[in-house]
Amino acid sequence: PSTGPDGARRRILAVANQKGGVGKTTTTINLAAALAEQGRRVLIVDLDPQGNASTGLGIEAARRERSSYDLLVGQEEAAGLVQPTAQANLSVIPATGDLASADVELVDDPSRARRLQRSLRDPGLLADWDYIVIDCPPSLNLLTVNAMAAADAVLVPLQCEFFAMEGLSQLLTTIKEIRRGLNPGLAIEGVVLTMYDRRNNLSDLVARDVRANLGDVVYRTVIPRNVRLSEAPSYALPAIVYDSNSTGSLAYRALARELLERGARAAA
Ligand code: ADP
Ligand code: MG
Repeated sequence: PSTGPDGARRRILAVANQKGGVGKTTTTINLAAALAEQGRRVLIVDLDPQGNASTGLGIEAARRERSSYDLLVGQEEAAGLVQPTAQANLSVIPATGDLASADVELVDDPSRARRLQRSLRDPGLLADWDYIVIDCPPSLNLLTVNAMAAADAVLVPLQCEFFAMEGLSQLLTTIKEIRRGLNPGLAIEGVVLTMYDRRNNLSDLVARDVRANLGDVVYRTVIPRNVRLSEAPSYALPAIVYDSNSTGSLAYRALARELLERGARAAA
């Protein structure tokens, strides 16, 4: 159990939702950046073969020769794969396309679902980072299962759209299955509503419906639809850095504070 400013914080977070385009990568980058800004040492593990988090953090191709593929498939030590970003306290293990074939390459390994767990739950590594945030691919495949097996908790971004809840039961079922076998302690860190549009009544209806169904697990903080959040990756920076006072940046800072508060309350 960890002590320190965040009490019994959950340190390894898997940002997961098998739907694509719901804000996983945007949440990973900006929540991590906001935690880093507040003095936490944060490592992002990009576990999506698309590598959007790595691109958004400015890790060019030449710096991706060593990647999360080497962590997962090669079982190389994480510490040797970490790349710095433009922001203090924020580093990343980038992803490359070869991750996409990891499930095929590992098919004969009976403990293939525990590879990331073995790599990340290393006291030496955990001593270096306050938070490790894993950006999952849009699927409940072996990569996401590895992330959930390694994580203390799952953080679920949910887009404020009509079918927001659709697919959530499948995600919750997967979490239960992981608890039964690979990772009994896996918690749900929280559900964060993303791309909220206050001019659109539907956003509000969806937000209320999700809260009625899921209760306190849903963060009070809602992430608005904000063009700065979508522009920032093309400048290879978190929005938190690219436009520090944009509504998106302010929202992710509030989310970071809420996450830290929840951790402190859980410890009390
Ligand atoms: P995922 O990782 O779940 O596939 P992304 O974080 O990549 O989702 O988001 C999908 C797209 O929507 C990206 O182009 C991203 O820039 C954009 N986006 C994400 N969150 C927001 C937001 N709150 N406001 C505006 N655009 C957003
Ligand atoms: Mg993504």
